[in-house]
Amino acid sequence: MAFRKKIIAGNWKMHKTATEARELTQDIIQELSDFNHAEIVLCPPYTALHVVGDLLSHAPNIRLGAQNVHYENQGAFTGEISPAMLRDMYVRYVIIGHSERRQYFGEDDALINRKLKAAIPAGLRPILCIGETLAQRQSQRWPEVLQSQIEGALEGISEKDLEELVIAYEPVWAIGTGHNATPAQAQEAHALIRKILQSLYNPEISKRIRIQYGGSVKPDNAQSLLAQPDIDGALVGGASLDARSFTSIVRSIPQN
Ligand code: PEP
Repeated sequence: MAFRKKIIAGNWKMHKTATEARELTQDIIQELSDFNHAEIVLCPPYTALHVVGDLLSHAPNIRLGAQNVHYENQGAFTGEISPAMLRDMYVRYVIIGHSERRQYFGEDDALINRKLKAAIPAGLRPILCIGETLAQRQSQRWPEVLQSQIEGALEGISEKDLEELVIAYEPVWAIGTGHNATPAQAQEAHALIRKILQSLYNPEISKRIRIQYGGSVKPDNAQSLLAQPDIDGALVGGASLDARSFTSIVRSIPQN
């Protein structure tokens, strides 16, 4: 089996002022100073990227991420932030296609595809979020939903560019609800995602792509989720806002 380094990312969403972000980042850095057997990514809001990036420049084991990006590098797009602007701030990862962006800001697979195609050449590593709603899960349509989200987002993305990507399987019904997918449900979805990648690309690359689980990951469920063979990390929302709970999720990754 291909070795896939686990990756835990904290999505702070629209939480933490720059001042609060400084304090949280300092606490996380302190708690994880000796930790280097997985990748750790912090995704603060844009307004805190600078302060968090400055602190992370002294913490080589933790990377900076953003929560969104525009598909052009510059132009008349009031209120938007470009891939080049993020790279210039030493941002390495960027979340693209989060369900909240899809739900509240009308992002569809075609737009997400444009964002991926802009982010990767700029040197960003996208965390592409996909996942079904509760109605789609209950009506057993989740496999086709995942298939069409992946096909739409990855349209025209080369094999080489795919290597830059992390995929986050985030069932919408599990995000912020306290009801995580069971390890078996998540594993089943992750295995399907890998199968879809295999059919769109090839078996080798599908084994190398990291697939995170996201949706109510907490210190008490992280270990069983992360123990699944196709779960390569977690995208953590609520629990990433507290240094102790985030670092305890990170520490639940077995050292091998
Ligand atoms: C998320 O927003 O990506 C997320 C997974 O949130 P939570 O952990 O709060 O469910």
